[in-house]
Amino acid sequence: MQCPLLYRFRVIDKLPQKPSEAATRGTLVHAVLERLFDKPAAERTPGGATALIPGQWDRLLESKPELGELFAEDPEGERLARWLGQAEQLVERWFSLEDPTRLEPAERELFVETELESGLRLRGVIDRIDVAPTGEVRIVDYKTGKAPRPEYAEGALFQMKFYALVIWRLKGVVPRRLQLVYLGSGDVMTYDPVVADLERVERKLLALWEAISLATRTGEWRPRPTKLCGWCDHQALCPEFGGTPPVYPLTVRPAGPADDDQGRMEPVRAGADLPAALDGH
Ligand code: SF4
Repeated sequence: MQCPLLYRFRVIDKLPQKPSEAATRGTLVHAVLERLFDKPAAERTPGGATALIPGQWDRLLESKPELGELFAEDPEGERLARWLGQAEQLVERWFSLEDPTRLEPAERELFVETELESGLRLRGVIDRIDVAPTGEVRIVDYKTGKAPRPEYAEGALFQMKFYALVIWRLKGVVPRRLQLVYLGSGDVMTYDPVVADLERVERKLLALWEAISLATRTGEWRPRPTKLCGWCDHQALCPEFGGTPPVYPLTVRPAGPADDDQGRMEPVRAGADLPAALDGH
């Protein structure tokens, strides 16, 4: 949805990406917020949460030693200390947005997977699911960045509606509320979905998959430059920045009449007007 060429680099060429401080801080904060609920409610305090940070950082480093590269050139440990301090601020800010002493999540970091009637398989990891005594489901996602401006809110909500669609398909229940918690700016965005929203997301996903399938066959992955290019690891290979992509690793089959017969929907050209960018953790 962001940039077809970036999708190709990541998913088809499988080019490695350098770990980033921001993404790793997000992973660390998510781990802390997940583990905090292991404690009894009364111990879920800001101090109790920030005390989890060093241990979770060690666990992260153990499971992904390459993250050590981030602070390889930091002999005095100043950058690491600043970075850990920023993680601490994000965790503390969460307490001004939600009260974990009053929450008992039904699920944390839940891997979900379902198959649509079309055969398209959807997978994701949901940060938190709360279930009210009435059975109403709330899906919660933490973002360590700032809340988007209102004109970009739809892009951020798409991810939540995606999760809602998966839960609806799996459990037959439309989640009552979708909640995005922005720790970077201290905002909470909520949306109460209805069936029509989820059906729309399903149609959008099918169109997106058509676009991906077509581009996979034809090898036509177009760059779509935006201000997010500044975060792209593969600028040096991108024609928009004077680069040349590596040789396409798959057999190319030009688009032809057969493509028109294959989809249930109008084929969508890669780079066509697909929804706005999604915000990762
Ligand atoms: S630099 Fe921008 S346009 Fe090029 S691949 Fe990366 S995200 Fe896409």
